[in-house]
Formats: sequence, structure tokens, C-alpha cells
Amino acid sequence: MNSYKHTDIQQTDLFLQHQCSLVACGQGVKRGERVAISLLPGKGDIHSPVGGKVSYVDAYRITIVAENNDVVAPVNLDGLPGDDLKRKLLELGGDIPDADSVSTVIINGVDADTDVLTRQHMLTSSSGTLERGLAAITVLYTPRETVLATLPGIQLSLPEVLRSIISDQYPAGLDPMVVKAVTGKESPEDTVIIGLETVYHLGRIMETGLPVLDTILTVNGRGKTVPIGMPVGELLRLEGDHVLDQDRIVLGGVMRGTAAVMVSQGVDRTVSAVSIVRNPTPVAMDAACVGCGECVRRCPARLDPAMLTNYAEFGMYDKAAKEHVNACFECGLCGYFCIARRPMLQYIRLAKNELAVAQRQIEEVVTS
Ligand code: SF4
Ligand code: SF4
Repeated sequence: MNSYKHTDIQQTDLFLQHQCSLVACGQGVKRGERVAISLLPGKGDIHSPVGGKVSYVDAYRITIVAENNDVVAPVNLDGLPGDDLKRKLLELGGDIPDADSVSTVIINGVDADTDVLTRQHMLTSSSGTLERGLAAITVLYTPRETVLATLPGIQLSLPEVLRSIISDQYPAGLDPMVVKAVTGKESPEDTVIIGLETVYHLGRIMETGLPVLDTILTVNGRGKTVPIGMPVGELLRLEGDHVLDQDRIVLGGVMRGTAAVMVSQGVDRTVSAVSIVRNPTPVAMDAACVGCGECVRRCPARLDPAMLTNYAEFGMYDKAAKEHVNACFECGLCGYFCIARRPMLQYIRLAKNELAVAQRQIEEVVTS
């Protein structure tokens, strides 16, 4: 089977991070109804994957039990000008990076993690949807040029899109590395980079007039179309994998993925892969840094990961910001090589998240 359907979902937990719930416990929802609004610029909202009833809500998750096949009506997006199209696409769950005066749009079609094949699968299976997404991106950014970055050997031509071939050596496929490879510059102001899955999701919205309701991800080494909100445990069960007590379910590639919080956690549109790590040992722990310097030597962003993670560990997020924690592109190499097995990437993501929350609170005070 190459695809799953929303009827495979009996109950789902939608996790919130920088979103605010719009629904209350006991409320009925249709499939595609907006249930949470994004609090971050450029990030799309969240919608119910099924028709049913909200059974639990808190600041971190919404639980929805499937009861029926009621679905929202599609929206006509044809001919909308850039600003109106952007507002509608964000409401419908599209992610649209904020950028002014864009000269170059880079579409990142490289699966950076070697165990993930999602973007390759999208390129070979969904050219029509990608063309619709690219057309929307052209209306949104009106760039001078659009460049598709891929690994060698991908046979695909998209109208009016240039090609750039990227090395398959990790972490060459991560966004900042691709930008440098394509433009020759680090963080050029007139360039925006967009992941291929975002183009796919925008294309699906344009095709259907409905919110983002499905995605493509890698399961058991193969690309699968999966409804957003599909519980990860159920997805693995349908694949014939049984999750045991000591196992971890990994969302994303093994270098940069995160552990699922619970088996009922629904996949969201950022998840590129789902896999099981059986009985993981040894486990990363809050061990002290021994000052070996290996992480500093390995960091391709030329940061000091030991210092950043020490600041994050002790809640000194402002100091982490001064040491450019937001320049980290989350390759995971520091944690991979840390001989003390410190959870480096997790500390760095914690600092970034806390800084984003603090920034949002400042902006809310300024605008209120
Ligand atoms: S994850 Fe670690 S090694 Fe990679 S860019 Fe960030 S700090 Fe550097
Ligand atoms: S690799 Fe680990 S132990 Fe070595 S300096 Fe970095 S954080 Fe410290």
C-alpha cells in the first residue's frame, strides 16, 4: 500500500507548539476545520484531519475522536492577488516564509538525512502538484529566478525552474548549506529557501481548495502518502511494526529527528519520516561536558556548541542568543560526536524555542 486515508484515523492528538487552540472540549468539528491558529509569522494554521468531536484540549495538544465524514467546503483561490493569496494559504495550513524583495527562490529538494527519501519521492511522484505549488510561490514572491536544488540523478524538469545539483555528503542538503552552494553567499538578503514539502502542501491547497490534509513521508524506507493527524503508532501498526515499551518512535531522520511524545501523536506537515529505534542504548543524558572540544571542531556553522548547550542547560537563553544560537542549523553533528553523550541538539532547540516564545511575548505587549 502506498497511501493511507483519513478513515484510518479513529482518534488523534494534534500537538501545539507555537499555535493557539480555537476549539473547546466537546465541540464538533468537520474534516478540514481550523482548530488552531499559528502564532508565528509565515507558519500556517492547523486543521482537523477528521470529522468528529474534540475530547481534550490544553495548551499543548488537541485530541479529536473521529465520528463522521463531514468535510468543510473548498475555497476558490484562482486569480487572488499576492497578499490575499498569502493570507488564505496561511489560513489553510500553508507555510510561507516571510521575506521582502526576493530575487531568488531556492526550492530545497534534497533529503539531507540519508535515511529519508521523502523529497525524492515527491519529485518522482507528484510533479503536477509541485507545479501548482510553484505557480503559487511565483505569485507570492515574484522572484527573478527560481532554483530547484536536488541530489544528482533526479530526472525532473519544472517549467522556468533552474537546477542546482547538491552533494549527497551530510549535511550538504540542509538549508543554509544549500543556500551557500547555490548563491555562493551565506544568508543573502534577497534569497528565500523553501522546503519541497512546503511546495507540495501549497500545491495540494491550490488543487483542492481545501486545507493541507495529507503529506508524504518515509516509512520503512519507502515514500507514503499519509493523512496529517495519522497517529504514529497506528501508522506503524498498519505497516506491520509493533511498538514495544522501551522503543522510541522517531519523527524525522535519525540525525535530527525528535522522539514522539505518545503513540497517538498525529503526524504534522513538518514530519519527513517515521521509524522505530528499538530499545535505544546508551541514552543521551544530562552528563557534564568534559571539554574535549570535539563538537566545536565538527560544527559546520562555526559555533561553539559546548558553550551554547551549557547556557541552555542552565536557562541562560539571552547568553545563548548572544553566542548566535539561532545560527545553528540543527545538523546534530555536535551531539553525534559528543563523547559525554550530552543531548546537544535538544538543548539548542530548547534555547531557540524559549527565545522565540520570549520574542513573541514582547511583540504581543508592543501591539496590545
Ligand atoms: S547542531 Fe551542533 S554542530 Fe550542527 S550547526 Fe548546530 S551547533 Fe553546530
Ligand atoms: S563534544 Fe561534548 S564533551 Fe566534548 S566539548 Fe563538546 S559538549 Fe563537551
